[in-house]
Amino acid sequence: MTGRLVIVGAGQAAFALAAKLRALKDMRPITIIGAEDTLPYQRPPLSKKYLLGEMSFDRLQFRPEQWYVDNQVELRLSTWAEEIDRFGKTVTMQDASVLPYDTLALATGATPRKLPAGVGGDLNGVYVVRDKRDADLLAGEMRAGRRLLVIGGGYIGLEAAAVARHLGLEVTVIEMADRILKRVASAETAEIMRGIHRRHGTVIRESTGISKLVGNADNHVTAAELGDGSVLDVDFVITGIGVSPNDRLAREAGLDVANGIVVDEFAKTSDPAIFAIGDCTVLPWQGMNIRLESVQNAVDQAEAAAAVMAGGSEPYAAKPWFWSDQYDVKLQIAGFNLGYDETLVRPGARDGALSVWYFRQGQFIAVDAINDAKAYVTGKKMLDAGITPDRALLTDATVDLKQLLL
Ligand SMILES: Cc1cc2nc3c(=O)[nH]c(=O)nc-3n(C[C@H](O)[C@H](O)[C@H](O)COP(=O)(O)OP(=O)(O)OC[C@H]3O[C@@H](n4cnc5c(N)ncnc54)[C@H](O)[C@@H]3O)c2cc1C
Repeated sequence: MTGRLVIVGAGQAAFALAAKLRALKDMRPITIIGAEDTLPYQRPPLSKKYLLGEMSFDRLQFRPEQWYVDNQVELRLSTWAEEIDRFGKTVTMQDASVLPYDTLALATGATPRKLPAGVGGDLNGVYVVRDKRDADLLAGEMRAGRRLLVIGGGYIGLEAAAVARHLGLEVTVIEMADRILKRVASAETAEIMRGIHRRHGTVIRESTGISKLVGNADNHVTAAELGDGSVLDVDFVITGIGVSPNDRLAREAGLDVANGIVVDEFAKTSDPAIFAIGDCTVLPWQGMNIRLESVQNAVDQAEAAAAVMAGGSEPYAAKPWFWSDQYDVKLQIAGFNLGYDETLVRPGARDGALSVWYFRQGQFIAVDAINDAKAYVTGKKMLDAGITPDRALLTDATVDLKQLLL
């Protein structure tokens, strides 16, 4: 398969696809279309060190501009792909110009869900964290003593809360479910993270939804009416209530879409000339169709797609891993805990280290390692090898984890 490759989206997956093709010495013409005005960059630091002001934007960019020139990867930034014509094999841009393709890759990512305007979601001072612009606007709000409300106790909301506390803000996190991290982690992991946040002075209120955000005459948020009837004065708000995959282009082009662009194990959509990679996809995994919003999937799926485009036939089997940094805590996750029915906690070797191991029908499927790199690395090896550790040995902190690999 040769000819022009057009990649829509200029994020983690788009860059990985272009870089891998060049690493494979595949020199087909590549054009990357990106709606943002920056060179492709990594997002994880946007809610961590970049927001804290400890990492410059240069360090977020995957490569300097010269790399794209040297590798003959054309970048069309600050512009938007508006429509796909699958029969004419063209992409129509926001300015109505038309770009022909032989192969198309959709790497459009996801968009944070917003609170509806009816409950104040469109007030000034209400933010999401998805791109550089969001993080820059937020950084301007992060001043000691100000009052921040974080709506949603998922990873991104909790990371932003940790940054804000570090900078001396008064922070309240509200979570509609009965506990934080409900969608992504066990009650044990949530309890540990809740404890860490509370020790740092963040107020966490679970089983608490938002009724309405209230604004002043300038349309700036000033207060939040919560589901339990209480009212909280706030200076600004971050909503971290999940994302929706950017699948509009694919849907309108008649590709299979099911809360994400449906792809097979070769990252191909229902049109063989169109691939899709990263957060915008729904992919097959162990007999299920799942979405993975992670750097690991964006990179590995993109690289697998590159290998297929370059003539390979290796199917992509995701090996999920993820991390989250909050205060001085590093949470590392190997595997995917979907459908778990049992958890075991293993104390770590040093203070504050601990891991939570997930099982489904007796089989080990994932581990959350809290300041415990050894548990993460060993758990990952076990998953790769298909090992389910002995439960009694696993929970015995005196047993070296390495023994369980044998
Ligand atoms: C704040 C934050 C923290 C995160 N932390 C972690 C973490 O700790 N660990 C982890 O594994 N993952 C983390 N993630 C998730 C990770 O960043 C994503 O999974 C990854 O960026 C997905 O890559 P992608 O290429 O699919 O999408 P993106 O990187 O989102 O790139 C998609 C790009 O496509 C552009 N686009 C969309 N539609 C069009 C169009 N029609 N035309 C032109 N351009 C378009 C978008 O503007 C965007 O720039 C985090 C994400 C965020 C936002």
